[in-house]
Amino acid sequence: MTTTTDAADPRIAVAHGDGIGPEIMDATLEILDAAGASLDVAEVRLGKAVYESGVASGVDPDAWSVLRDRSVLLKAPITTPRGGGYKSLNVTLRKSLGLFANVRPAVSYHPFVATLHPNMDVLVVRENEEDLYAGIEHRQSDEVVQCLKLVSRPGCEKIVRYAFEVARAQGRHRVTALVKDNIMKLTDGLFARVFEEVAEEYPEIEHDQLIVDIGTARLADTPQDFDVVVTLNLYGDIVSDVTAQLTGSVGLAPSANVGETVSMFEAIHGSAPDIAGRGIANPSGLLLAAVMMLQHLGRGEVAERIHNAWLRTIEDGVHTGDVYRQEVSRERVNTVGFTEAVVARLGEEPRHLPPARYAGRPAPRVPRTVARTPQRKELLGTDAFVEWRDHGRDPERLAERVQQQQGELTLQAITNRGVVVWPGGQPETFRSDHWRLRFLDPSGGPVSPRALVDLHGRLVDAGLDVIKTENLYAFDGERGFSQAQGE
Ligand code: NAD
Repeated sequence: MTTTTDAADPRIAVAHGDGIGPEIMDATLEILDAAGASLDVAEVRLGKAVYESGVASGVDPDAWSVLRDRSVLLKAPITTPRGGGYKSLNVTLRKSLGLFANVRPAVSYHPFVATLHPNMDVLVVRENEEDLYAGIEHRQSDEVVQCLKLVSRPGCEKIVRYAFEVARAQGRHRVTALVKDNIMKLTDGLFARVFEEVAEEYPEIEHDQLIVDIGTARLADTPQDFDVVVTLNLYGDIVSDVTAQLTGSVGLAPSANVGETVSMFEAIHGSAPDIAGRGIANPSGLLLAAVMMLQHLGRGEVAERIHNAWLRTIEDGVHTGDVYRQEVSRERVNTVGFTEAVVARLGEEPRHLPPARYAGRPAPRVPRTVARTPQRKELLGTDAFVEWRDHGRDPERLAERVQQQQGELTLQAITNRGVVVWPGGQPETFRSDHWRLRFLDPSGGPVSPRALVDLHGRLVDAGLDVIKTENLYAFDGERGFSQAQGE
């Protein structure tokens, strides 16, 4: 790779990774060099050897300062050693470096790579830091466990705005949000609301929202109808695997993890230990990740040159074993052969597939978190959760016991896993040992924090096993908590 560098050369960090990592990284860097990418490269150590040296995160302690200094990492896949105690390296990098957006293009290369969807070109932008992936889980009763879904307004604003920024930078025409706000009115509802607000800043780009279930079904059926998809972490995790699989070429797919200051680019496949060291791995996923990196660095011209040479290579039927098919392939090559074929085509364009056009396009702007004035917050009551199995789990008996204790706040409803079982309720509703008691001031007005503490104390004195409480607030007069089903 480039040894003599210019002060103006982009400075990046690279990690050669494990398994096939070093082979495909060498191939990628050779192509970048031949294309004139002119990068100033510093190596960082990540992966198996670092894990085995006793660092549980798999990230060499010296790597952090290099990553911060260089702010861009091109990463080959790594191997997570078997056995317990090792933390996911990708999760560590994502969370530690604030890599809030995961961006995965899913493109089909019909007829050169077999696929059921010949005209697919979808970009999935997945929120990367929040949602159920905060990993905050608790066992609260003998029967019930919970996982907290946390969604923040700044998190939604950043990811949605980045999706529109990428759409604008790539000349894409529509952004579709996938949400489940018909059920999760506060969390997914916030994402959906922010999506509508941010979309107004990009009038030249169409936007629409779909419920994630039907949206994913339609994506799997007619992916050619989609352009950019933006969604929350868990849905994005699933949807981006679905779209990668649909292209028929998971091994060719790249991804970017973008943060406010640091960004990381990699292939979506792993370290393929089964073929490591044989020189037959396909470097395309990592190479296309490097193409995304060059766009991020504002080097659209070189990105375009490499991407078009690569498309021409695929079109010319020069294929590594993983995509080789007798009907369409002309030459079966190893990693070195593929690399040489791409280098030989630098300056050429594909003749059948649509050519890449990045030259002259600005890099997508990475949005910053914007401070805002907090809304007026009022305490209205509490949801107290109790574990309870007495009296055949009859909610009337639970209500009687609670009502003897309630004081300033009154019991409004009892729910079991979100369904109202008191007052009213249906005898068929399954009752776990996990009950929610909703307390509000009878006048509907604000209550003091002390009233909640007193209530908690009285419930405990009554022998109830309070497993958690959740305060009920209004923000600028709007209720900040969901109604129960049947309330
Ligand atoms: P894998 O993606 O490494 O391999 C799955 C199959 O695809 C294998 O048959 C492999 O030979 C093939 N394959 C993958 N990439 C290829 C390429 N570029 N060219 C040709 N064939 C290719 O998945 P796995 O076997 O489940 O995981 C292996 C290791 O990779 C594990 O230790 C896993 O933890 C790690 N992993 C790392 C990352 C990452 O660093 N981002 C991602 C996924 C898995």
